[in-house]
Amino acid sequence: GARHRLDVDSPSGPYPIHIGAGLVADGEALAAALRGRQALLVTDANVAALHAPVVEAALRRHRPTLDLATHVIPPGESEKTLDRWREVIDALAALGATRDAAVVALGGGVVGDLAGFAAACWMRGIDVVQVPTTLLAMVDSSVGGKTAVDLPAGKNLVGAFHPPSAVVADTAMLATLPDRELRAGLAEVAKYGAVFDAHFLGWLEAKADALLVRDPDAIAEAVARSCGFKAEVVARDPFERGDRALLNFGHTFGHAIEAEQGYAGAVGGLVHGEAVAVGMVLAARLSAALGRAPMADADRLERLLARFGLPTRIPAGLSPPSLLARMRLDKKADAAGLRFILWDAAGEGRIARDVPEAKVLEVLAAD
Ligand code: NAD
Ligand code: ZN
Repeated sequence: GARHRLDVDSPSGPYPIHIGAGLVADGEALAAALRGRQALLVTDANVAALHAPVVEAALRRHRPTLDLATHVIPPGESEKTLDRWREVIDALAALGATRDAAVVALGGGVVGDLAGFAAACWMRGIDVVQVPTTLLAMVDSSVGGKTAVDLPAGKNLVGAFHPPSAVVADTAMLATLPDRELRAGLAEVAKYGAVFDAHFLGWLEAKADALLVRDPDAIAEAVARSCGFKAEVVARDPFERGDRALLNFGHTFGHAIEAEQGYAGAVGGLVHGEAVAVGMVLAARLSAALGRAPMADADRLERLLARFGLPTRIPAGLSPPSLLARMRLDKKADAAGLRFILWDAAGEGRIARDVPEAKVLEVLAAD
């Protein structure tokens, strides 16, 4: 199958992203990313059962003298906590990890954020190699250096910018990913097209069926293109002071929906990528309602997301005023008024300040 390699600029130096089926079993990209004699593999119980043995075997084969330990956390967003972070720190202590030890984060965004944050803190920062196993982690969380854990007071409240030393995205690992998680990842893939590149949206329209049946070349290309968009914007704005906020397209609405539903896992609730899909449609409709963009582009985005099997309408039972109240609380609301990522047309995302609440309510109520 197709292999891709990208190099990402970051404040701590460039790092490679390797993309392709079978990369982990090959072992070379992974082994090359480890500088020292010690590594701590961090993963969750689902991924441990499915994929950890391949990683361990590859490392043992390529680095027979490596001092390797594995730390497994339970799966789920509810485990992205300071208590689990402390367990990873304790595992590094038990390994006697030195400055050139590495953390290998094998899993979705939960493992990547948690293990990345532990690596950011151990001895003020050791290498983390991201080995993403969800589509979302491959196209979003493993790239760009944001790491964090959640607090009861809110998501991602404690964290650090800590770019990986390498990303090894083995698309063969997606074979075991539940369909719903694959579709949720496709929402974030569509987001790159929505804010950066209408041609890429066209490519996604052409490849929608291939992506849904996990055609290896289509998946690898979607991951590579997505990482390319993300790499470019994070290189320009590593600490999210400007442009990087474009990646929040659909997220102000999406977070409000997630918060109203009590976050991922809530019975009958939307997972993050699904909430973002609804949010992107709302952002596109708001752009049209403000006279900034054609409504036809919103319809086009809605059709693509629907083909991906994603929801495009606000779940029943969520009221427009309560969603608006959530958005006022979101960090994207500043003193001047509501800040949204909108678009001028498909592929042309823009940061918009002072969006009138009345227009937002109108779009929410029309849904
Ligand atoms: P996740 O890590 O919870 O993974 C989703 C589920 O899939 C879990 O149950 C996991 O065990 C399972 N799984 C993972 N890989 C699998 C595989 N190959 N086969 C079968 N099952 C598998 O969720 P996610 O969607 O990957 O990540 C969400 C997290 O990412 C959130 O905490 C979010 O805040 C974070 N995030 C971070 C960034 C960033 O820039 N750091 C960006 C986006 C999202
Ligand atoms: Zn997202």
